[in-house]
Amino acid sequence: MKVYVDKPKCTGCSHCHDVCPVSVFEMVPIDAPAEKINADVAPPEEQWKGQNDPAVYQKWNGVNDGHNHYKEKSVAVNGEACILCQACLIECEGECITIIDDAGTKYKSIYK
Ligand code: SF4
Ligand code: SF4
Repeated sequence: MKVYVDKPKCTGCSHCHDVCPVSVFEMVPIDAPAEKINADVAPPEEQWKGQNDPAVYQKWNGVNDGHNHYKEKSVAVNGEACILCQACLIECEGECITIIDDAGTKYKSIYK
């Protein structure tokens, strides 16, 4: 299984980290070196270059729901362990998680 996060869209809400039963995700401070934030297999256009996605930022910045926003980015450091339970896919505020199974089928997060 391959798992990666579209970093500009990630709000840092930590839902993925909190629900994943096999610890695929690590939350990394937003001011960490870019190579640490880009340590999963996200394609170049989904890597962190210091700019948040404007539409997602406008929607979630300042939302007070008990979760931090825009202090960290989620990095799928342990994608091989994914068991495709799909918990993260329905919890992801930024709709920014992609999972690709061994047959090449792609799963994208949709916030419920
Ligand atoms: S689908 Fe995979 S990465 Fe997502 S919560 Fe389940 S095991 Fe973790
Ligand atoms: S659930 Fe989505 S938006 Fe929230 S930290 Fe994880 S990847 Fe980022």
